[in-house]
Amino acid sequence: MNSRKVIAIDGYASTGKSTLAKMLSRHYHLTFIDSGALYRGVTFFALEKGFLKDNELHQKAFRDALEGLDLRLEPAGDLYLNGENISQKIRHPRVSDDVSTIAALPFVRKFLLHQQRQMALENGIVMDGRDIGTVVFPNADHKFFFTARPEVRAQRRYEELKAQGQETTLEEVLNNLLHRDQTDSSRDVAPLRKADDAIEIDTSELTTDQLFTHLVEKIDAK
Ligand code: C5P
Repeated sequence: MNSRKVIAIDGYASTGKSTLAKMLSRHYHLTFIDSGALYRGVTFFALEKGFLKDNELHQKAFRDALEGLDLRLEPAGDLYLNGENISQKIRHPRVSDDVSTIAALPFVRKFLLHQQRQMALENGIVMDGRDIGTVVFPNADHKFFFTARPEVRAQRRYEELKAQGQETTLEEVLNNLLHRDQTDSSRDVAPLRKADDAIEIDTSELTTDQLFTHLVEKIDAK
């Protein structure tokens, strides 16, 4: 595959996007970028610095502070904020609860849009998120859109969180996924939706290996 290829995977929360994006990146020797981690990193920053506190957002101060933000995603997938590895911290339920609110802010999207496009300048990439095929890379070579039944998604995410030692319940996880899907789909800027030319896949009944084989077949056939 051409080293500058772009593969975009969008879809609902916990449908397997990042897992598959990572597998495809290894298979095709492309850089993997989990764009959700970037939105989570900015949200963690807003919470840690108190720009978002008690559901109140200090927008002006937050916006100004973003200018000097050093957010780096390492090739191995680790996320650094001003030199600190925050890869684990961004998966905390506190971040999951607020990330869709922060991701709906136009200035946050503009800030990260620039970063995401910069990341594709040097190497081909597989990027997963919500607006990759529609806004970030509308000319991507391959576009997929993942869906899955909410119960299946909640169960998967619940097991992941438990394995990481996070305290949560299946119900909390389900509510968070549904809330994020709703907020992500209804925002004004770059809402979650399928690009017209994306291939839609329901991942509910597929194993990771089946899904991988299916995607590789589609990519190689094009
Ligand atoms: O991918 P993940 O579930 O970690 O994404 C966390 C949140 O980041 C999403 O629910 C969404 O609010 C936001 N996001 C986004 N656009 C992207 C990727 C993620 O708005 N491209």
